[in-house]
Order: sequence, then structure tokens, then C-alpha cells
Amino acid sequence: MATMIIEGDRTKAASGKTYEVRNPATGEVVDEVPAGGAADVDKAAQAATKAFTTWSRLPANKRAEILHKAAHHMLEKVEQIAPILTKEQGKTLLESRIEAQRFGENIAWFADLADKIHGEHVRLPDLTTYGLVVRKPIGVCGAIVPWNFPLTLAANKVAPAIAAGNTVVLKPASTTPLSTLACIEALIEGGLPEGVVNVVLGQATGDAIVGHPQIRKIALTGSTPTGKKVMARAAEQLKMITLELGGSDPCIVLDDADLEGAARAISIGRFFNCGQACLAVKRLYVQEGVYDALLEKLVARASKLKPGNGLDKDSRMGPMHTETQRAEVEAQLKDAVDRGAKVVYGGGRPKGGDYDKGWFIEPTIVENVPDGARMWTEEVFGPALPVRRIKDLDEGLRLANDSQYGLGSSIWTTSMAAAYRAVQEIEAGYTWVNALQIAHDELPFGGTKQSGFGKEHGVEAYLHYTEEKSVVYGGI
Ligand code: NAD
Repeated sequence: MATMIIEGDRTKAASGKTYEVRNPATGEVVDEVPAGGAADVDKAAQAATKAFTTWSRLPANKRAEILHKAAHHMLEKVEQIAPILTKEQGKTLLESRIEAQRFGENIAWFADLADKIHGEHVRLPDLTTYGLVVRKPIGVCGAIVPWNFPLTLAANKVAPAIAAGNTVVLKPASTTPLSTLACIEALIEGGLPEGVVNVVLGQATGDAIVGHPQIRKIALTGSTPTGKKVMARAAEQLKMITLELGGSDPCIVLDDADLEGAARAISIGRFFNCGQACLAVKRLYVQEGVYDALLEKLVARASKLKPGNGLDKDSRMGPMHTETQRAEVEAQLKDAVDRGAKVVYGGGRPKGGDYDKGWFIEPTIVENVPDGARMWTEEVFGPALPVRRIKDLDEGLRLANDSQYGLGSSIWTTSMAAAYRAVQEIEAGYTWVNALQIAHDELPFGGTKQSGFGKEHGVEAYLHYTEEKSVVYGGI
């Protein structure tokens, strides 16, 4: 049975309660894990507070060295960790390998910053005094993670937090705790001191983290409704928060676009991870002149995405993570079809044999989806893509912004002027121009509107895990 990681303890829940983690491809039990609660979060927060006194005071170059060694050790275990992720989450082994690799790389990327980001010296008018701006770690930080990318989204929080000298209480999603435990255990084996990152498990630990008085900052990746609850709860103690929430990224393709490049990026952008991605092409607007040609290319690509158990090497798309998630996407699709949409590809479940054991769904493309349909107004968190014909860029931009969300966005065009307008006018935290929707370590990533606020990745993420203090030295 898996256990939580709280300082040196590998511990069960204080209540003794447990629950089962199941494989979305087979329904089989993968492991039994502790169903933690407030008492366990309290123990983890105490451990993190204790660890903070030593970790935050280490010379920054020493912290960087420890983190690099720990990341290196973890990266040697990618092949062991990837199947654990596939079994609990459903994604293909290839996707799991990429994700586990990204976890270690992210720790190393922020380790590089640990001794390179400084405060500043400020000249003051009175020459007998001088000013400093000192950058300090915040303290104990809470990290709350969803199930779609359990490892990369945990690393996005843990890596900048600990590089800056903070300690962490980390809560994976209830259904995907095992690969996270394996990654943190690997970091500890590689030299990360016990107590710097603590892992608590179970649904109830999320609210307990947000409410714990010793946890000073909360970083949540999750749905927009959860973000609103967490923000309200965190406000009770005026905690700092970063919210990475839902999205419905528009993609505009104009007549002058590189269609092959666009088709590849849209197909990966919509179907990677069985469509369960925050950054994903979720609404496609294509100019009339290339509409039919692009649709044909997309259908050809979708038809190659064979659904299957992520552990089988022939599978190109794993199952949906849960029955509820699949039902939600199916209901959004049905709503579109009921309103007159036409399914161009997929639209159902692959059936028979092993398919009947898991939450499989076909990659799906639909057109003629009317205004107001759920596929346009809600986040579609699965492999179903609505496509719409547009007359020109103006119409594309208007539709792109006609959403409560503002996470990612993309445009395919060879016109510099059109690309420039998209960059200026699309309301989103990211715009890719003729490029695959990949969140780069180097660039700050985060949403606007109902997709949240605050940044992960980039130097900006590191800064979000520090506080500035002004200092005046007088009498000189
Ligand atoms: P979710 O909001 O249900 O859960 C996310 C995490 O929050 C889980 O660990 C959950 O246990 C915890 N949680 C739930 N209620 C809580 C509460 N009241 N207090 C504290 N913690 C609470 O989301 P999900 O279904 O696991 O993930 C899918 C959602 O996440 C989608 O909307 C997706 O767009 C979003 N997401 C966003 C990003 C991003 O970076 N913007 C990335 C990936 C996923």
C-alpha cells in the first residue's frame, strides 16, 4: 500500500481510512492509498515549517547543487516512473515518459536560478543612508494539482518554490497520487532533505491545505469553479495565490497558412493526452479558402490515432481518465449534434474486447456547431474538436475572444500583419504563431479572464515564490 510522505515518515492517514486507485484502461485496482485529512495536512505543515528554517538558510549555490543532484537521480528513474503514471492516469507510455522527463528537467531548470536571482541596491537621496530590496522565500507553500498532467503540474509549483528556498505541502489529485509519490521519493533518494517536500493524499486534504494557517501561499491548477472556491477560502487568511484554471483555446487558420504544419499542430494540440489538457486547441476557426483541405488533413490524422491501453505500444491515444469525464464530453457532443452539428470523424466509443473495460472514446471532429452550443461556451476536456468556417481575420478574432476563458491561443498565417493583430488582440496568456502549443520552461505561462492569474514557468514563476523586503541602512 502506498503511503504519504511527511518528513521522514512514510505514513498512513491519521484516520486510518484508505481508497483505491484504478486503471482507467482496465478498471483494475492499481494500489490502495491513504485518504488523508486535516490532521495529516497539519502534520505535513509542521514538518515543512521545521524544514524551512534550515532549507531557506542554506547558501543558494548549495541549494542549487542539491536540487541538480536530486533532479539527475530522478531522471535516471523515468523508465520506472512512466508505467506507474500510465496505469493510474491512462495516458500512453510515450506521453508518460515525456511527462516524467519534464518533471526532472523542471526541477533542474529552476535549480539554475536558485543562486542567480538577487534583490537590488537602491540609491537614496540622503547620502548617509542606502537602500536594499531583499528577496526572501515566502515560507511553506501549498501545491494542489489535477489528474491530467500530475507530474508536470506538480513540478511547475514544487520546482520554483524549493529553488527559492520555500518548503512545500503537495497534494496530487486523488486519482493520480502514485507517480507523484515516486518522483518525490526519487528526489529524496537523490539528496533532497526530508521535509522540504511533503505529499499528502486524499480529496479532503485540498481544503485543509488552503485553510492551514502555516501555509502562506497556494498554487492551484484545476477547474475554474475550484479556483473560485480556493480564492474565497484563501482570502480568509489573505494568502497569496496562483490559479491555473480551465481554458478553451481558439486556433485561427488563414488562407495563406502552412496547412501541413497547422494540421500537425492542431491534431497534437487537440488529441494529445486524450484531449485532457488545459492548453489544447479547443475551438478551430478556419478561413473559407482552406477549410475543406485542412479538414481533410485533420481527419486523416485523427484516423491514425488508435485508442488503446496506454501500456500497449500500438496505442496512440489512451482512455479518458474517468467515466464522469467521458460522460461530460459525450454530453457536450450530443448537445452540439442535437442542435444540428455534423460529426465529420469519430463521435462514439470504440467497442468490443478490452475497449469495454475502460473509458475509451474516439478522436472526434465536428462541424456546423451552432452558436451557443456547449462545445463553444464550455471547456471540452477530451478529444473532440469543433471546427468553424470564417470569412476573414476579423471574424476569427471576434469568435476567438467570445469565451469566458483566456489561457492559450494560436494562429496560422504567413502574414506578419495578421499575426501581429492576433498577438495584440487575442485575450489570452499565450499566443503561438505558426507553432505547436508547447509551454516552454523559459516563458511565463498563465491565463487571463476566467483562466486564472499568476504565472508558472520562467523567471516570473520563481519571483512568485519570493517576497520583497525593503531595507534602509543608515548612519554611514
Ligand atoms: P479540479 O478542480 O476538480 O481539481 C484540481 C485539484 O484541486 C485536485 O487535486 C482536487 O482534489 C483539488 N480540489 C478540488 N476542490 C478543492 C477545494 N475546494 N479546495 C482545495 N482543493 C480542491 O480539477 P480536475 O478535474 O482535477 O482537473 C481538470 C481541470 O484542471 C480542467 O478545468 C483543466 O482545464 C484544469 N487545468 C488547468 C491547467 C492550467 O495550467 N491552467 C492545467 C491543467 C488542468
